[in-house]
Amino acid sequence: MSASISLRKKLHVPEKLSTLRVAGLTRLSTTDFPGHLAAVVFVQGCPWRCRYCHNPELQARLAAPAMSWQTVLEFLDHRQGLLDAVVFCGGEPTVDRHLGDAIDEVRERGFKVGLHTAGAYPDRLRALLPKLDWVGFDAKAPFADYAETTGVRTSGENARRSLDYLLMSGVAHEVRTTHHPALLSPEKLIAMALSLRWQGVNTFALQEFRPDGCVDELLDSRPAPLVHQDVDHLRGQFPTFILRSAN
Ligand code: SF4
Repeated sequence: MSASISLRKKLHVPEKLSTLRVAGLTRLSTTDFPGHLAAVVFVQGCPWRCRYCHNPELQARLAAPAMSWQTVLEFLDHRQGLLDAVVFCGGEPTVDRHLGDAIDEVRERGFKVGLHTAGAYPDRLRALLPKLDWVGFDAKAPFADYAETTGVRTSGENARRSLDYLLMSGVAHEVRTTHHPALLSPEKLIAMALSLRWQGVNTFALQEFRPDGCVDELLDSRPAPLVHQDVDHLRGQFPTFILRSAN
């Protein structure tokens, strides 16, 4: 028996889940999975470097976990009947190859599962979709312009494929875009929204940039909000439109 297996046995940590990197846990959220009382599990790591990211401390994959996955499961065991769902977010939760096993453990306990993703790993997302009840999908820009926001050349193509898989799956979802005028002009935002609607997105949320946590000093921390006409134009495109203002 190897030293690592014997250590796992001593710690009672299931081998298949031993490397899910948990960056944090919100014990109760009423906003991260619409209509549900949910716990939110933050997964460590993200391959993108969005300029407006307000969780930059979650980007590094190898940062020390805040707690073990086993600790999260023990918390959930005490919340059965009190919570409806568990949401995995990040960072980018699909960066973790153990996410599917973690979702299985959550479902076995009777919770629904939500996922927040930007679609950085389309094939992993496709494999996870049958296990999911709801997805919050971040759309950052027109796909051709993604790299200006994420800093990663392949990000737009990966996001496009991921959104295709999500829409084809029929899993309930919300697509949301964080808007900063230095990264996304009103014209590009509207063009992107029309393209999303054409692809089949029914629920779209516009999130105004919030400066908390953002480390890019070149981004204006208090940009001018979109004018009412642009917001109304977006509102008119979708059966369900949500405006999340910065204030
Ligand atoms: S995808 Fe999300 S977590 Fe990753 S850098 Fe962008 S905003 Fe931050």
